[in-house]
Amino acid sequence: MLKALIFDVDGTLAETEELHRKAFNETFAEFGLDWAWNQALYGELLKVAGGQNRIRHFIETGQPKQAGDFVDRVAELHRHKTQTYGRLLAGGQIRLRPGIKDLILQAINKGVRLAIATSTSRINVDRLFAATLGEAVLEHFDVICCGDDVAEVKPSPQLYLLALKKLQLPPENCLAIEDSEIGLSAARSAGIPAIITVSTYCQQDDFTGAQEIMTDLVSGNFAL
Ligand SMILES: [Mg+2]
Repeated sequence: MLKALIFDVDGTLAETEELHRKAFNETFAEFGLDWAWNQALYGELLKVAGGQNRIRHFIETGQPKQAGDFVDRVAELHRHKTQTYGRLLAGGQIRLRPGIKDLILQAINKGVRLAIATSTSRINVDRLFAATLGEAVLEHFDVICCGDDVAEVKPSPQLYLLALKKLQLPPENCLAIEDSEIGLSAARSAGIPAIITVSTYCQQDDFTGAQEIMTDLVSGNFAL
């Protein structure tokens, strides 16, 4: 029996990745770096979850100019990027994906518990809700597990295992909602069934092991 929905955030609740990419690029420019992540490169970098990990991976594998100067300043770059992302989000450029609002309301009405398991930081979750459904809706989420809460983000199962522990539910009573291969892999490694709503950046991902793959969560596709 389904007792809780556990949502991923970026790509699943909203198509936020273009705004993240913009925030990274604005940050690099403000630090005087000529690093610029185009969509193709960002698509590759998304295989690494968590902003700091992503910058570090880029420095190591892309060997951009001034890489040496910034290898120890990743946390600083990322803090700036988070501020920039918050400013862009507050600018109202993001809408929730189709069906998300109704599904959240349906879950609240039917007593299906709500949780979040995301590699992103808590402030990004708060700001996304503030810019869309309103921050008060987060009070309906019993459990919110973010990248700051675990040692290893997705595809490690740690975020999902922590969510299960806090929900005090076995994995079979939960359903993860994800948009990416690394997210699916994290949920499945924690034993949680998962459905995929395909997002712009993850269309080429391998979704083997997903219970269902759908374009979005509108009621014709999915209902509680
Ligand atoms: Mg995602």
